[in-house]
Amino acid sequence: MSKVYNTFIDYIEKRNPNEPEFLQAVTEVAEDLIPYIEQHQPELLKMKVLERIAEPERVISFRVTWLNDKNEIEVNRGYRVQMNSAIGPYKGGLRFAPNVNLSILKFLAFEQVFKNSLTSLPIGGGKGGSDFNPKGKSDTEIMKFCQSFISELYRHIGAETDVPAGDIGVGEREIGYMFGQYKRLQNNFTGVLTGKGANWGGSYIRPEATGYGLLYFVSCIYDYRSEELKDKIVAISGAGNVAFYAAEKAIQLGAKVITLSNSQGVLYDEQGITSEKLAFIATIGRDLDKYISKYPDAKYYEGKKPWEFKCDIALPCATQNELDGEDAQKLIDNGCTCVAEGANMPSTAEAIKLFHKARLIFAPGKAANAGGVAVSGLEMSQNSIREQWTKEKVDKKLHGIMENIHRTCVKYGHEDNYINYLKGANIGGFLKVAKAMIAQGVV
Ligand code: GLU
Repeated sequence: MSKVYNTFIDYIEKRNPNEPEFLQAVTEVAEDLIPYIEQHQPELLKMKVLERIAEPERVISFRVTWLNDKNEIEVNRGYRVQMNSAIGPYKGGLRFAPNVNLSILKFLAFEQVFKNSLTSLPIGGGKGGSDFNPKGKSDTEIMKFCQSFISELYRHIGAETDVPAGDIGVGEREIGYMFGQYKRLQNNFTGVLTGKGANWGGSYIRPEATGYGLLYFVSCIYDYRSEELKDKIVAISGAGNVAFYAAEKAIQLGAKVITLSNSQGVLYDEQGITSEKLAFIATIGRDLDKYISKYPDAKYYEGKKPWEFKCDIALPCATQNELDGEDAQKLIDNGCTCVAEGANMPSTAEAIKLFHKARLIFAPGKAANAGGVAVSGLEMSQNSIREQWTKEKVDKKLHGIMENIHRTCVKYGHEDNYINYLKGANIGGFLKVAKAMIAQGVV
C-alpha cells in the first residue's frame, strides 16, 4: 500500500483510539479508495475529502433514564452519529443492544453513508442507538425506555434533518413508541422515522425489504454470470427480520435453504426449509431449537455456526464480525461460490481477504443489504407526498434499485475476469458523496 494510505490509516488510528470496528470499516474502504483516488482524482487528496468523510459531522451522546417494572431507576446511554449530510438528511437505523458503543455506531454510520449513496436516493448517513438490552424486558419497559430515549433525541431529528429507523433490537413496536412520543412532543405528524406500521405512515414491503433486496442482489450476480440460482444450496445465519425474509425470498426463487441460527447455535435442515416450515419458524421466533420437535429430521447444534455446512451461497444476516477467517476457509474448502452480506460488516477483514484470494464472489453489506434503507427512502417519499404505494409498486422499485446497485458494483469493481464487488461498492458509493461535498464548499 502507498505512503498516502499508510499516513491516512495512521491518522485515523490516532484520532479514534479504542474504536476497532470503526477502524476496520474505514480501512476496508480506504484500501480500495486511495489507489483509485491517487490514479484518477488526486485533487480529492488536497481537498481532504477522505479526512472529512471519516469525521462525523456531529455526535450526540445522552443519558436515558427510565423506571423498570419494579419501579427501580435504570440508566442507559443513547447516541446518534450524524455522519454525512452531503446528499440528503442523515438516514440510518437505531440499534438497541448491550454491546452498543461509539465505535460500533461510528462504523455503522460510516458504512451507511456509502450504502445510502449506492441506493441513488437523496439520503445522507447516520446511525444511533443505546446499550439498552431489550431481551427479557416487558412491553411497558420497552415503551418507557423508547419514550425516554426519544424525549432527548427528538430535538436533534426531523423529516428534513435526520430520519432514524430500526436496526438490531428496534422493530415496528419500538418505532411506534418513539413515533408516538415524538408526535406528542412536537405536535406534528411527519415522516421523522421510517419502519412505521403500514396503517400509520409506513411503507409496504419495509419489513421484508432487506432480506428480499439481498436475494434480488444475489439474483443479479447469478444472472450476470449466466448461472441459475434455482436449486443452489443456501446457508443463512440469524433469525431476525433480515434472515427470515432472505430465507422466504430464496425459497420463492427455488433455492434450498439449509440453515438459520441464533446466538446459541445453528438449525440445520438438510432437506431444506420449505415455505411451510418457515411459516412454523414465524411462530417460534428465535427459539430455533423448537423446530426439531416438529421436524425431527433436522438438527439444532449448540455452539456451531452455519459456515461449516456445505453450501453454494452463504448469507450472513446476524451481526458484525460473525464470520471470521476460519469460517471463510471452511466455506471455501466446501465449495461455496458466493457470500452476500445481509448484516453490516459480518465478515472480518481476514475473511474478506480469503474470499478475494479464492476468487469467490463477495458482495458486501453496503451493497447487498441496501434494500432496507432503500425502502425507508421510499417511505420518506410517500410521506412527503402523502401517498401510500401498493406492495407491487414498492417491490418493483426495490428490485430496480438493487439492479442499479449491482450495475454500479460491476462498473467500478471490474477486474480481469473477476468482479470485486467490495471495490465497486466503495468507489461507486464514494464518488457521489465526494462530488456533493466539494460542490458545497469547505463545510
Ligand atoms: N438499519 C438498516 C441498515 O442497516 C436500515 C436503516 C434505515 O432504514 O434507515 O441499513
